[in-house]
Amino acid sequence: QKHAKPVDYNAVINEAYNLFKNEQSGKNADYIPFLDRANAAMYGIVIVTKEGQVYQVGETKFEFGIESVEKVFTLCMAMEIFGDSVILEKVGASQTGLPFNSVPAIELDDKKPSNPLVNAGAMATTSLLTSHFGHSDAWEKVDAYFAKFAGRQLTILDELYKSEAANNQHNQAIAMLLKSYGYMYDDPLYACDFYTKQCSYGVTTRDLGIMAGTLANGGVNPITKERLIKEEYVPKVLAIMGTTGLYETTGEWMFKVGLPSKSGVGGGIISVVPGRYAIAVFSPPLDKAGNSVRAQKAIQYISGKLNANIYSGK
Ligand code: GLU
Repeated sequence: QKHAKPVDYNAVINEAYNLFKNEQSGKNADYIPFLDRANAAMYGIVIVTKEGQVYQVGETKFEFGIESVEKVFTLCMAMEIFGDSVILEKVGASQTGLPFNSVPAIELDDKKPSNPLVNAGAMATTSLLTSHFGHSDAWEKVDAYFAKFAGRQLTILDELYKSEAANNQHNQAIAMLLKSYGYMYDDPLYACDFYTKQCSYGVTTRDLGIMAGTLANGGVNPITKERLIKEEYVPKVLAIMGTTGLYETTGEWMFKVGLPSKSGVGGGIISVVPGRYAIAVFSPPLDKAGNSVRAQKAIQYISGKLNANIYSGK
């Protein structure tokens, strides 16, 4: 009975914090020099309920790179503007079972970008937005939408952006490949650069908690109370997170934890407990697939304690 007694979120996140703060496994993302240099000891946990209560422990005010977690909100924006069938048709919604920047995934999946939460699909989704708004307005529009999710203006971590832009030839190649197959809807290198910039947003664990909390609250920001995505689209966004949010290890993640989630190589992970609350955790060291080790452990612990598994029926 999940509502039988008040849940002590503070106690649970503090337990999770203490249990895994000495965890030593994992390694910072090393293919982006800026991320490689991050302090590996940093660790923060936030829970945001649909009523707008915020519980936090650890380094929850430190700004780190949002990286792939941005893909969720770019998807929300595109879904809001174009509708769900356009996403299905022009990007896709199937999991790849392969790394986030896999080139073979494109070849295998009917030359399609696969889904909006891998690099190919994220760049295709971004290109839908940039061609829709036009290059002179696109950044301002996307920036304003992300600010509504976080409940504050976000800024680009310039050093991260430069570091990544100087090393993103692989993503440029993916963008060009998609162009050749007719799945890129704007200039491919422009879309790639725009996507890189979106990945360079500085966010705190608290920001991510509120952004994910908006999805837990059916599309309404639990702090500002503003609706940011239609209620009917939220389960579709969560479905894609639930099939591909932790890269090629998503199946194992759903087996162990059962929560639609999204990770980023900056060390952040968001998890959504639909209709209840969101969990956001940050810590830079990653496993081989690119998921924060401490964040996975903390979320698994919290979700177990709070009976959060969406398949449990509790
Ligand atoms: N900007 C990173 C890339 O495209 C994001 C990767 C990630 O967080 O999964 O390589």
